[in-house]
Amino acid sequence: MKKKLEMLEELQEVDQQIDVLKAARSGLLAEMSGINQGVDAVRGEIASFETTLTQLESEKVELETTHAAELENIVRSETNMKEIKTNKEFQAVGREITAAKKQVSDIEESLLQKISQIDELSGALAAKKSTCDELAENSAQRIVAKQAEIDAAQLNIDAEIIRRENVTKGLPASLVKKFTILREQRRGQALATARDGYCMGCNMHLPPQLYNNLYKYEELLTCPHCQRILILKLQQQ
Ligand SMILES: [Zn+2]
Repeated sequence: MKKKLEMLEELQEVDQQIDVLKAARSGLLAEMSGINQGVDAVRGEIASFETTLTQLESEKVELETTHAAELENIVRSETNMKEIKTNKEFQAVGREITAAKKQVSDIEESLLQKISQIDELSGALAAKKSTCDELAENSAQRIVAKQAEIDAAQLNIDAEIIRRENVTKGLPASLVKKFTILREQRRGQALATARDGYCMGCNMHLPPQLYNNLYKYEELLTCPHCQRILILKLQQQ
């Protein structure tokens, strides 16, 4: 029985080790996905800049087309003016030309604004692309390093799983099952130390007869309060 208890202790240690390693691996995987998300976010910003830039360029082309059409209108009206006979008609065409010239000047102002927006955004886009290249290069290196850490953690987990198999092989299947269920129910601690008449798992006093029986190592004894499997330790370890 003493041997079985020692094996259960080893099983508990292995399981705790596996939990720690798995948590470390999860942390590494989260860091890895954080690195990838960082690059993806910048790529998303670049795509959005490019969409806006395309939009601005097409607005600029539209303005240029309208601008050219208005200039043509002015030339046509000025040509027509030469053939006008009446003063009234002359004044009407004159007003049209004035309005068209005002229109042209408004379009030119909009065009200048558009060009300046395009310049500004092109500059920002170039800067963003260069940042992205640096980030991607830097991230690629970090990903390689992180992957190596993840692989190492996995190797350790695999080794612990083999160690666990070796321990469980030497124990009755029913006991391993009991241990596993207890461990799930008792926050990872299926075993509890018994010392000075107390269960150290729940800090409750153990019935004296039960405590005395622990010394005999005849059977597996559990705490009546927390149901953990009791392991007698006379001294603090
Ligand atoms: Zn207990």
